[in-house]
This record gives sequence, structure tokens and C-alpha cells, in this order.
Amino acid sequence: MQSSRRSFLITSIGVASTLALSRQAFADAPKVAESDPTAQALGYKLDATQVDKAKFAKYAAGQDCSNCSFYQGKATDAFAPCPMFGGKQVAGKGWCSAYNKKA
Ligand code: SF4
Repeated sequence: MQSSRRSFLITSIGVASTLALSRQAFADAPKVAESDPTAQALGYKLDATQVDKAKFAKYAAGQDCSNCSFYQGKATDAFAPCPMFGGKQVAGKGWCSAYNKKA
């Protein structure tokens, strides 16, 4: 009993520190530039209000990275990694055509 509890705790600590480390690695990830080829392909803008609405008719006011299901940060984070850009950081106020509203 005692030892299984201990190994559970040790495992939990290991998982927590691995998560902390990967968050740290993410925080150092480079920011996506609008000139990046993937950004161009997905119509990524640092400022969602600058989205080319003629080209991306699916864009609706109020959509931005901070309320997209792919955004890997808190809604209040200025920048956070996005898997669409290989984990590079996108702006919370940004947008791209892979936008998917967070449930
Ligand atoms: S997928 Fe979502 S979080 Fe990522 S850049 Fe596009 S809108 Fe932003």
C-alpha cells in the first residue's frame, strides 16, 4: 500500500516536470511571421482584423487564435504555440484559415 502510493507520487511528479519542461520549450519557440510560406498558405495574420475577407469568407468578426481550439496557450496569452505551424507561436489576436472555434 505504502510503496504503491509512493510510486504513484513519483510518477506524478515525473509527468508534471515533463509537462513543465515542454511548456518551457514552447515558450522559446519562434513566432510565426506573416511572410512564412505556411502563414501565406493559411492566410495567417498577426491581427485578425487584417484578414483578407474577400479571400477568406469563412472569417467572422470575433474569431482569433485565442478562441481557436488549436491555440496551445491560455486565452489571455499574447502568443502561444499552434500545431498548424509546427509548434511555432502565433498571436492571440491573430487568425488563419484553419481556425476552429474552441468548444
Ligand atoms: S489554427 Fe487557430 S490558433 Fe492556429 S493560427 Fe490558425 S486560428 Fe490561430
